Amino acid sequence: MKVHEYQARELLEECGAPVPPSKVVETVDQALSAYDEIGQMVVVKAQVFAGGRGKAGFVKLCNNRDEVKTAAEFMLGNRMVSKQTGPEGIAVKKLLIASAVDIESEYYVAVVLDRTKRCPVVMVSREGGVEIEEVAEKNPDAIVKQWLDPHLGLVNFQAARLVSALGLKEKSQVKSATKVLRALVDVFYKYDCALAEINPLVLTRGGDILAIDAKMNFDDNATFRHKRLQEMFDPSEENPAELRAKEHDLTYIALDGNIGCLVNGAGLAMSTMDIIKLHGGEPANFLDVGGSVTKEGAIEAFRIILSDEKVRGVLVNIFGGIAKCDTIAEALIAAANEIGFKIPVVVRLEGTNVERARELLKEANIDALIPADDLTDAAKKACAQVA
Ligand code: GDP
Ligand code: MN
Repeated sequence: MKVHEYQARELLEECGAPVPPSKVVETVDQALSAYDEIGQMVVVKAQVFAGGRGKAGFVKLCNNRDEVKTAAEFMLGNRMVSKQTGPEGIAVKKLLIASAVDIESEYYVAVVLDRTKRCPVVMVSREGGVEIEEVAEKNPDAIVKQWLDPHLGLVNFQAARLVSALGLKEKSQVKSATKVLRALVDVFYKYDCALAEINPLVLTRGGDILAIDAKMNFDDNATFRHKRLQEMFDPSEENPAELRAKEHDLTYIALDGNIGCLVNGAGLAMSTMDIIKLHGGEPANFLDVGGSVTKEGAIEAFRIILSDEKVRGVLVNIFGGIAKCDTIAEALIAAANEIGFKIPVVVRLEGTNVERARELLKEANIDALIPADDLTDAAKKACAQVA
């Protein structure tokens, strides 16, 4: 799960990081009132789940009311296209009006989960700002890391090393930057983050340390225990098909190709996509109905897959263990009758009750259903159908 910058700022502030005052707004008028309140120099920032806003023109410094009006009108009236959005871009519904700061230097600080080392890692760089991806690629030594003991968190010597790597020496700045690092690590631990990032953390010309942009991703498997995060969840920013699947305890991931994949189990989903690619096809999505799927769940799964306009053919790949093949066959038949299949559906079933499933499908005699002997045969047939 992701949250908006303004929400990430709230969490940071609560854990003790200094953040400039700001207001979230949804209209140009509200943006102007927020400007009147915050005053002088503000920065108008699109609140969307994608980075690269600065370069896309969706972070704008404004010195007066007119500039705020122009910036707010532009951002609310245009889709933002950045490196992270794809060419269709995303609509902007909320803006953050934040008190602007005079920047002396920009730093990068982040905590992410290091899967290889199985612990969180704090990363900092003196070369923060909008080019951090380039820094990571061309000059990885400019990023200094400290791996955290999962139980101890950030200990003093690590904090000291990180702050010194930022080149901060003045006592008050060292103190303030340490506080920011602690706040970031606290948020990471407290809310089960996968990522907590401040980019940039700035040293102002006045000598203050402030977090002026924040990004956080949370582990979806842990959000059930964080009421705070549940309240922050913004369904309008999520993929509608993925949301719908979640409501039915199905896992749906949208991809770019044209073959829809209905499978049971994440491992089977991966191998199904691999074999489709091996035979020259591209998966449009995968929908994992899980182990204990019901007929209703499976019908809903078809509805979701078929609602994707890119899908020109479907591959059903079920290995019946706990999920029984005949349940899937019944769902297939019911889905064909209720929704109607206008595109070919290649079916590979194996495992528990497979004979009964094959009989059911044969009796139903549905034109769009194409039986496959095995996985390779299924992949070849699915690829041929959409070619
Ligand atoms: P991002 O591009 O989506 O990461 O958005 P950021 O909030 O990080 O802003 C991008 C860049 O805009 C920052 O790296 C700063 O250089 C600049 N910026 C953002 N806020 C301020 C501000 O208050 N004052 C100044 N001078 N620059 C700002
Ligand atoms: Mn940023």
